[in-house]
Amino acid sequence: LAAEAGLYSSADQVVLLTPDTVASVLRNNSAALLVEFYASWCGHCVAFSPVWKALARDTREWKPAVDLVAIDCAFEENSRVCRDFGIAGYPSLKFFPAHSGSDSKGSDIKGFPRDVLGLRHLIIRKIEEHHDSWPPACPPLEAASKAEIDSTVQTNSMEYLALVFETEDSYVGREVTLDLLQFSNITVRRVLKSERELVSELEVTDFPSCYLRRRDSNFTRLHVLNEARTFYSYALQRLPGVVRSGKSKPVTSDLLQNGTQVQWRPFDRSGVYMSDLESALHYSLRVEVAARSVIAGPALDALRSYISVLAKVNFFSLSLSLSLSHERTLDPTAALPRGVRWVGCQGSRPHFRGYPCSVWTLFHLLTVQALETGSSGPLEVLWTMRRYMHNFFGCRYCATHFEQMAEENMDSVTMLSEAVIWLWARHNQVNNRLAGDLSEDPHFPKIQWPPPDQCRECHGVKGGGEHAWNQAQVLAFLRSHYSAQHLNMTYLE
Ligand code: FAD
Repeated sequence: LAAEAGLYSSADQVVLLTPDTVASVLRNNSAALLVEFYASWCGHCVAFSPVWKALARDTREWKPAVDLVAIDCAFEENSRVCRDFGIAGYPSLKFFPAHSGSDSKGSDIKGFPRDVLGLRHLIIRKIEEHHDSWPPACPPLEAASKAEIDSTVQTNSMEYLALVFETEDSYVGREVTLDLLQFSNITVRRVLKSERELVSELEVTDFPSCYLRRRDSNFTRLHVLNEARTFYSYALQRLPGVVRSGKSKPVTSDLLQNGTQVQWRPFDRSGVYMSDLESALHYSLRVEVAARSVIAGPALDALRSYISVLAKVNFFSLSLSLSLSHERTLDPTAALPRGVRWVGCQGSRPHFRGYPCSVWTLFHLLTVQALETGSSGPLEVLWTMRRYMHNFFGCRYCATHFEQMAEENMDSVTMLSEAVIWLWARHNQVNNRLAGDLSEDPHFPKIQWPPPDQCRECHGVKGGGEHAWNQAQVLAFLRSHYSAQHLNMTYLE
């Protein structure tokens, strides 16, 4: 609780340090650690906290090799820890190499950069300072020689080998290597421009550029929208057969088997399926809402607003325009097919995806439909979702997190188009938090969505090669993706 009261919460991909966890977090950790000592009352710390959170999001895939930690020294219980580590001003950063011993005070990082790019590069330089105790989960970051690459190719042991060709001062190759460290069946190495023989053998002319070799074939250039870190990582993480390590084995057939008697329904990953939406309604109305014996007060208001928003979307094969004038549930679902038939929301195992996937899909579609038809106020769909989550959604943990996000800034939405973007951005926030989580289907990794292969124009780069969303293009993409015309009607009963 103490830790949660500071500038960060467990949703930020930052380890929250307390006196009780000093030994388990800082001592003999197999990952290197960058620790922020801050005071929640200090203005500089408040101003720095969005950067620290963004850094944690940006490097979330690197966790097994290097993790971010924070401790609020303003909290009285923590003050002894901060004193023991000799913290005099806030915010202070200390680096603890992997396997730091019990007497280690970490090394002070003076005059650290105040931006994500600078801090990310600093982390890489710090990892490279390890000599004897290299973090075991961290792949080699040094540039590969032609001899090394030749020997890897000859053994032909690797499903994929990706080479990032770059100049010596570039960090892209090391960043992509770290971005892929949790993914199996692929090895990434950086190769310097000065490795002339290999450069000329593959006819490399651009730095950076990425070349990919699949077992038993030759190197070919990886085509990406921008020659930048995020674009390489997006593309490599989504190669067929590349899955998060420690998760289930990759399947060899194109069709996934979901391990149940339910027949797998081949589908287009970029589609939106009516069958998922109907299944969402079936489950939410007949199972989730119906689980309540009495619906009254705020829960009844939530249900009314849900039905009213649904009724405005006239392409559902439902007659939802009934009036809920009694404090008891009528059956609003008479015309709705029974049972669930997941299609775009199928998971590779029965406990993956399904209902929560369809709830996101439904509400994205509702925000877009509200924009297209102008049938409601800017906040009506968002409030409906918020109330639904709060009153009915079975995953209480999810509901609490959604409520926290909504409390933060949902009221800043003043236009229907902003509601569409608000929900997209919050969903990406959740995707970020859940990347690598146990609940993630390894065949559907949580990514910042939409990926470049679904919307090239949504992605751009800022100065320094940093990824940037083009929000106008994202809005245009969402309007098309969640449009009535784009709805796929296959698999309907
Ligand atoms: P989902 O994240 O469910 O996405 C479904 C589909 O939406 C994707 O296949 C994609 O086509 C599209 N999509 C993805 N990102 C975006 C985006 N940014 N904008 C528009 N469309 C997008 N699970 C937890 O473990 N902890 C939580 O705290 C939690 N909170 C949740 C909060 C809400 C409101 C909801 C509805 C669900 C929550 N879940 C949570 C469940 C989790 O977010 C996923 O729904 C679930 O893990 C299934 O993931 P999925 O791979 O099917 O993709």
